[in-house]
Amino acid sequence: MRILVVEDEKHLAEALGHLLKKNNYTVDISNDGESGLDNALSGIYDVIVLDVMLPKLDGISILKEIRGEGLDVPVIMLTAKGEISDKVLGLDSGADDYLAKPFNTEELLARIRALGRRRGEIITESALSFGNTSLDTGSLVLKNGTEEVALTLKECELMEFLMLRKNLVASKEQIIEKLWGFESEAEANHVEVYVSFLRKKLKFVHSNISINAIRGVGYKLEVCADV
Ligand code: CA
Repeated sequence: MRILVVEDEKHLAEALGHLLKKNNYTVDISNDGESGLDNALSGIYDVIVLDVMLPKLDGISILKEIRGEGLDVPVIMLTAKGEISDKVLGLDSGADDYLAKPFNTEELLARIRALGRRRGEIITESALSFGNTSLDTGSLVLKNGTEEVALTLKECELMEFLMLRKNLVASKEQIIEKLWGFESEAEANHVEVYVSFLRKKLKFVHSNISINAIRGVGYKLEVCADV
């Protein structure tokens, strides 16, 4: 699970990064609102821990932008003591949870686990269907009614990523980061190869969705108008 921490208090940010890594999460840290928003919009995170008071851009504005872009990544807001109205505003703006500072680190871990679980449930239950096509990430099967085809793990991960970002552009860089990780040597042509495999399998089940190339940027999963 990959977590983004947006927190300008350097000591707290470092401590959180350390704690989360120790608990086997992959962590990226942003120390101001602008870089936090850039990272959040990459769409590669499973949970975002977002401070409210930040330099350059505040947490509530970041949250609104994320939701405005259609990203449903779970967000936990961190609020300073007594910022009751911020809590309410955060939940109204689409936050999933909040923690008041100073907080117990065990409690933060418990909340992250809960949100990660909930996201897993949402994904396996319903979120992964689009057009006439559904994806079962447990059994790695792509389906259209009674027609189905087995996917490899990487094909399934790519399809899941595209379905979570349906109608949004996913860049090749984001796909590489999500499927192979930041440190990976994977290149854009890896992505092209997997996209071509998936296109064949979509065609095989007579799917009405297609992976459209957005020139110079990446790919967008869309329902074809004329199928
Ligand atoms: Ca702060």
